[in-house]
Parts: sequence; structure tokens; C-alpha cells
Amino acid sequence: MNFFQNIFQQYSWAEVQQSILSKTADDVRRALNTSRRNLEDFKALISPAAMPFLEEMAQISQQLTQKRFGKTIQMYVPLYLSNECQNICTYCGFSFDNKIKRKTLTDKEILAEVEVLKAMNYDHVLLVTGEANQTVGVPYLKNVIKLIRPFFSHISMEVQPLDETDYSELIAEGLNTVLVYQETYHQEDYKLHHPKGKKSNFEYRIQTPDRLGKGGIYKMGLGVLIGLEDWRTDSFFTALHLDYLEKQYWQTKYSISFPRLRPFSGGLEPKVVMSDAELVQLICAYRIFKEEVELSISTRENEIFRNNIIKLGITAMSAGSKTNPGGYVVEPASLEQFEISDERSPEVIAKMIEQQGYEPVWKDWIIFSE
Ligand code: SF4
Repeated sequence: MNFFQNIFQQYSWAEVQQSILSKTADDVRRALNTSRRNLEDFKALISPAAMPFLEEMAQISQQLTQKRFGKTIQMYVPLYLSNECQNICTYCGFSFDNKIKRKTLTDKEILAEVEVLKAMNYDHVLLVTGEANQTVGVPYLKNVIKLIRPFFSHISMEVQPLDETDYSELIAEGLNTVLVYQETYHQEDYKLHHPKGKKSNFEYRIQTPDRLGKGGIYKMGLGVLIGLEDWRTDSFFTALHLDYLEKQYWQTKYSISFPRLRPFSGGLEPKVVMSDAELVQLICAYRIFKEEVELSISTRENEIFRNNIIKLGITAMSAGSKTNPGGYVVEPASLEQFEISDERSPEVIAKMIEQQGYEPVWKDWIIFSE
């Protein structure tokens, strides 16, 4: 079988970067005016040459999003289950070498957190853990999914990459979506940022979406941590990965997220800073390239940016998030994985969405229409 890694190996980071930088205004015009867009068009849309076309890109992105998704924003919330982690990641507050109090929620504590999320109206939850096989391995995750299944119609998970059989087991238990961010497709820099633990295995991580596709996941989420490397080149490789996966596992749905590196206790400064305008450009570029992909924005971004991005291509949003285990009620003072920028409650966010003529959707109905 033709796994993504085989395709990835045919590309050179430096050549891709150069090719993006050499795109011209004519390339951008061609990308905007064709109905069948390819990866060269995506390069043009994320290139510096596309910046003067941002207004036009935003209009096309808005039209395409409304055509496919209507005027709706799917609401989801993260539930951090554990900050135990055996990996060292240079950008994360839960890194093994960060001396913090470690905590993994018990069943009783999870149910206490769930009660708060249900009171906020949530029906789509994103389970998050660090990577610690002894405490938050497959048996723990299986138990959590079984425990919370009655309370949520959509369960997503952002945990360590697993084997295909593990995914199949969790899917059978009720798991719907898995987010697995490559962090960066720059292989040497990946090693620098992940010096210790299972996550240092670049190959195993880049092969994860293939295992998910083969395991029959309903939806998977891709992305990179923006700030680790040149965002344009990293985004091209994400788009290349998405393009491959859509063809290979066409029954699976896909989403893209755009986490920009945020401060945490003892944190890493971004190597490359992406401006707000560039993030808008990237969001619009993904929408114009792939009409059906879901685009998600988290509370890492600030209020003004999140207010303004609603109409430009985003289809999912979190609100009221806590990024520490027990953050909603059990242990609110524990260390967060990263600082939240938009601290508004889900109720306030829902109102803001409605004021823009959009509908906040709490239940992922798509899953029941299949
Ligand atoms: S990013 Fe994930 S794997 Fe890395 S230290 Fe943080 S929790 Fe652990």
C-alpha cells in the first residue's frame, strides 16, 4: 500500500519552501479563478504573493463555507484527563522535565467535570491526555469512553498515537474523532523539539493518520504547531497529507486546526511568528483548496481574532476551555498545558456567534445522518 510516508519522502523541505516563495500574482489569480484546485494552487494561496488578494480570498472562502456548511459553527470543549507525560516536548507545560504536580482524573472526578460541561450545554467533548502508558494507556481511555458515552453524542480524542488495533477497539467503544497533529513536518526540527520519549519517533507519528484511516475512524484532525517552523512550508505538507488521506480513506471526514504556539510556564518562544493576517490567509487558503474540510479554531486565539474569523471559513470552535486536568471543578488551580487567550464563557461565545447571523451547533448531527 502507498502510505503517506512514501510520498512525503519524495519532497525536499527547501525546494517546497522555495517554490512557495517564488509564486507570483498570476499564480494566485489562476488559483482563485479555477474550479479544480491542486497543490500548486494551494502553494500560491499561502504565498506572500497572495497577501494583496486577502479580501478576495476571504469572500470566496465565506461563500464556499456557507455553501457546504450553512451559517453554523460546531461547538466543542476539551476535557483534560491527565497531565502525566513521559515525553519531553520543548513547547509544552506537561513535558516530563517540567517539575509540576501530576494528576490523572478518577472516574468520580471525570463525572464531576462532565456535569459542568453538560451544564454549559456541550454535547461534543475532546478528551486530552499526555503520553503515559502506565496510567493513561488504552485500558484507561477505553474506560473513559464507556463512562462518558451516555453524556455526549460526539467524542473526540487528542492523546498519544496508537496502533491500528487500539484505534479499532476504541472506535467500537464509541470514539468518533481523533486529532493527531504532526507538530512540524521538518524532520530535523521535529527531533530537536521531541528529544525524549515515544513522541521522538517522527516516522510513527507521521504514519498515524494511515493507521486511523485503516482503523475506520469517522473523522480525523490534522495540523502543525504554528511557530515551530516556517508555517507556509509546514502548511503545504499538511495539505499534501490531507490530499493523500482524502483519496486513500475517502469515507473518513477531515478537519484542520491552526494552533499558534502559546506561552506556558517556562515556555518556548516561537521560531517563526505568524501574524493575524497570515492566519486569516491560511484559513481562507485551506477553504478554497478543500471545500469540505472542517476548520477549527480554539481558545488559544484572542477575542477579537475569534470574533472576526467566524464568517471567513471556520466551522468549529471551542469555548470556556480549561487546559488542566480537573480544570472545570475538581482542581481548577493546577498548571495549564498552555494559556487560554479567549476566556469568555460558552454562553457569551454563543451570543457572539448569533449576533453575526450564525448558529452555534452543540450536537454534531452529521454523525446521526449516516
Ligand atoms: S505535547 Fe503531549 S506528548 Fe508532548 S509533553 Fe505535552 S502532553 Fe506530553
